[in-house]
Amino acid sequence: MKQFVVIGLGRFGSSVARTLYKLGYDVLGIDINEEIVQSLADSITHAVQADATDENTLKALGVRNFDVGIVSIGDDIQSSILVTLILKEMGIKYVIAKAQNDLHGKVLYKIGADRVVFPERDMGVRVAHNLVASNILDYIELSPDFSIVELEAFPEWYDKTLGELKMRKNYGLNVMAIKRGEDVIVSPGADDFIKKGDILVVVGQNKDIEKLEKLV
Ligand code: ADP
Repeated sequence: MKQFVVIGLGRFGSSVARTLYKLGYDVLGIDINEEIVQSLADSITHAVQADATDENTLKALGVRNFDVGIVSIGDDIQSSILVTLILKEMGIKYVIAKAQNDLHGKVLYKIGADRVVFPERDMGVRVAHNLVASNILDYIELSPDFSIVELEAFPEWYDKTLGELKMRKNYGLNVMAIKRGEDVIVSPGADDFIKKGDILVVVGQNKDIEKLEKLV
């Protein structure tokens, strides 16, 4: 069973910590603010008030024994960088850090963060795509060129097979799954039909997905 340490229990950190705990994992949460620590005391395994930029404190808390570290210190970029560095130097295998902006993200990668997340930026992208094309339900950028999109099937697609629609050729889309109510058809083939109300999970180039958004 993996153990997680979450440093910085603001909106993002506390949400990650609570969710991991609900999923049954051991979660140590650390924050400099006593009130925040108190408010989370019953929602995670341990909540501790401490300044995480102090390496000795982290050592005393046994942080190096954790499998995954999540650094979600918000505005204080200097502390976020320092804590990420300390966690990597302590030998934590997987460290995820939240970045404020691109430059902050680059620095975090350079000092050894295994993954950097940009929650505000990514959520903004997802909300915008959903606003311009109401049938785009979710949007995950894989790289600057490719994304995974969850979309409601267009009425023109109803009762046709993926083969008939030539999804790859006509739309540049690879359908990874079709969600139909509670059921999910994983890796559908050319003979699988699209029905009214289906939600398709597709992977494709961003330029093809943009074309699709303009169809709505
Ligand atoms: P969010 O946008 O996720 O709400 P915040 O900036 O509000 O992010 O939250 C960051 C949290 O990190 C705050 O609760 C703050 O008290 C905590 N924090 C900031 N610096 C330190 C530090 N050196 N050690 C531990 N926690 C810290």
